[in-house]
Amino acid sequence: MSRPLDVVRELLDNALDAGATRIELDIAGGGLDLIRVRDNGCGIPAASAALAAERHATSKLSPDGAALRVTTLGFRGEALWAAAQAGELHLLTRPAAQVGACEVRAHGEATRVARVSAPAGTTVTVTRLFAELPARLRTQLAPAAEVREITALLGRYVLHHPGLSWRLVVDGEPRLTHAPADPRGAVASVYGPLSANRVMAVEAPGISGVVSRPELTRTRRDRMHFSVNGRPVQAPPELEKAVIEGFAELLGAGAAPLCVLNLTVAPEDHDPNIHPAKQVVALADLPGVAARVRAAVAGALAAHPL
Ligand code: ADP
Ligand code: MG
Repeated sequence: MSRPLDVVRELLDNALDAGATRIELDIAGGGLDLIRVRDNGCGIPAASAALAAERHATSKLSPDGAALRVTTLGFRGEALWAAAQAGELHLLTRPAAQVGACEVRAHGEATRVARVSAPAGTTVTVTRLFAELPARLRTQLAPAAEVREITALLGRYVLHHPGLSWRLVVDGEPRLTHAPADPRGAVASVYGPLSANRVMAVEAPGISGVVSRPELTRTRRDRMHFSVNGRPVQAPPELEKAVIEGFAELLGAGAAPLCVLNLTVAPEDHDPNIHPAKQVVALADLPGVAARVRAAVAGALAAHPL
């Protein structure tokens, strides 16, 4: 974890893994002063709360070490531990069926646990990130730049999980609020109603999402979003190219539409953890997936003539 953005991504993944339907992110000071993710997910049972911030503690591996990889975003058991090394970690967590909640404070080697009362779900707070790591602190972006990237990251989660409630608060000011909606509604929350009016659905085996109508074409590719098995990923250029080629008959070369495409591939066909930040995805059959994306986009255009 080298920057606040990394912490935010891990905490959001944990909230999704916990099956949350409402996720709120609060940051202050570009994430260095405060990162807080509150969810209404499954919570951590009292018996394992103290362990959650231990290195390699994870509830996401089956005894043979494999099965849950299919369904969860994290399974290394390192994120909370790393956050407690880089800053001060505070957890407040309660499974809905459990009477009391647990509060865990972890920093460095020290962990303290207390029984408290709290709503069902989990709130993870990281404060004073890198405060004791001056070398790390020196390489950070300016807070405003980090906030821009965190906002864009949260936007990607909203776009790929439009059926959940999302909220982003930056330095005490609400920045983005999204109530459960369809993919078009998520485009409205993130990019505004004008963009939302221009998107059309893409549906094909293993591919779902939206692409914008050609009027919205841009030459920059910063509005092309992909997820693989639920995780927002940095798109391999081949996939961006496939979307652009899907539009090719209508658009000149180089134009980049808005798209949000959720890809589902067999677990054995991709390795989500090839990159430590887990944003780059390795697809076993990239040319095949790209061909499907190209065909799905072309098909959506054909179904919605101008
Ligand atoms: P990993 O996600 O790789 O298992 P983490 O360090 O991110 O490792 O989390 C450790 C464990 O703490 C998880 O396996 C999970 O059991 C629990 N946990 C963390 N965050 C949450 C959350 N928001 N809701 C429920 N359980 C959580
Ligand atoms: Mg995790």
